[in-house]
Amino acid sequence: MPIETSEWIWYNSRWVKWEEATVHVTAHALHYGSSVFEGVRAYEGDEGPRIFRLDRHLERFLDSSKLLRFDMGEHTMERLTQLCIDLVARNRHKSCYIRPIAFRGEESMGLYPLDCPVEVVLFSFPWGPYLGDEAIEDGVDVQVSSWRRFAPGTGAPLGKIGGQYVTNQFVSIEARQNGYAEGIMLDSFGFVSEGAGENVFVVKRGEITTPPISASILSGVTRDSVIILARDLGIPVHFENVTREMLYLSDELFMTGTAAEVSPVRSVDQIPIGEGTRGPITKRLQEEFFNIVEGTIPDRHGWLTCVPQIQSVAVQD
Ligand code: PMP
Repeated sequence: MPIETSEWIWYNSRWVKWEEATVHVTAHALHYGSSVFEGVRAYEGDEGPRIFRLDRHLERFLDSSKLLRFDMGEHTMERLTQLCIDLVARNRHKSCYIRPIAFRGEESMGLYPLDCPVEVVLFSFPWGPYLGDEAIEDGVDVQVSSWRRFAPGTGAPLGKIGGQYVTNQFVSIEARQNGYAEGIMLDSFGFVSEGAGENVFVVKRGEITTPPISASILSGVTRDSVIILARDLGIPVHFENVTREMLYLSDELFMTGTAAEVSPVRSVDQIPIGEGTRGPITKRLQEEFFNIVEGTIPDRHGWLTCVPQIQSVAVQD
């Protein structure tokens, strides 16, 4: 689906129009994947959009940039927070997806990156449910991918680093070509790791198990949120290795991600999960999640950052 453009982009320390935010072909990141990025959602609220867990996303953004030895300059946690709020306000979104990205630009052609300048960009656009509207209620059909998540020491899974997403693209292409909505990667030991863009949760006998950080996962913000919500509801959560057959034999299975939100899985490798429809614990957690982000119940964990609505913006400042 083509991206729906918005008006303003934060680009190298100034606000520019969408069309102006371009990159030269010699940019280091284009050749070697030296970029870090985030995906953040802002949900519609009565008094304007509200950004979900902005602090956690920006913390991970800065952590990822640390791994690539980026000098983020003026882009501190405080500055990035304000810029994201300004971005959503300027673009007059009701709800949107925010994509902060930092990358190495043009300077030299060699692999060694540290001479290349770091460029920091923030843009936003409207984006509906990632796995489709029906996915949230009906669930999706997934496969176990033939591609593995990196072995320890062969990547930095906790970093959301552009170059690392090549494997995830293989997973995504394979899944789509085989007629599945998504693929789940095993780790190098054969335990379940995560989806191409989602964390995985197994429900068995009323208890939840999710792969630990040591299974080469990205530490998802939605994962963390769902764990907190499950505990609020008195549902036990375990961080343990998940084997492939635990997926097939689970009562319920769901995936979490900023884009995918909380999506039930109804089959894996054509084996129906539970009744083959969304299970009660998944439904309960979805309700809790959506009630909070949509403002139907109080934001009891302080996860939402309100964006004040603005009437007009200066062309440059
Ligand atoms: N794993 C991977 C590989 C991802 O790209 C994402 C999306 N950021 C996730 C998990 C879910 O993370 P989050 O809930 O923070 O979006």
